[in-house]
Amino acid sequence: MRHLLFVLIIALGSQAKALMNIDQCYDINQKEVFYQQTTQIGQAGEGRILNNYPVILINPQMMSMYQPGVQQFILAHECAHHRLGHIVSLYFNNYFNKTFEFDADCAAIQLMRDMNLLNGQVVNGIFQFVGGLVEDSSHPSGGNRVIYLQQCLNK
Ligand SMILES: [Zn+2]
Repeated sequence: MRHLLFVLIIALGSQAKALMNIDQCYDINQKEVFYQQTTQIGQAGEGRILNNYPVILINPQMMSMYQPGVQQFILAHECAHHRLGHIVSLYFNNYFNKTFEFDADCAAIQLMRDMNLLNGQVVNGIFQFVGGLVEDSSHPSGGNRVIYLQQCLNK
């Protein structure tokens, strides 16, 4: 138990570091987006609307598997979903398009570039992470997402 707590503290510690500079997030209606930690989601981060509040759920166990640059990308990506109105669309219009993922990826990496958070190693880490993501009904293939990310970086 003591060991588990120690691991959790390390995970939360790296979390605080990852949030630095990128944790101020507002959705399409200028509502502040809140962060909530949970182990009940099957991915590192997920945008939701809970009790009418825009939220980014963070799974600290999964988040701790990634280097800080990738953690920042995940948070920026989820924030972009809120800022671009994707989560509102999903919850209130029951509409989500696969192209939302390209747009959130693009907004996230451009934000990181503009905040000087990118270098070669970070970009490689992000491409490796995104490239390994699996295609499903709401997500395009990781390979296609990396191609789109590369185009975004050149804009
Ligand atoms: Zn997404």
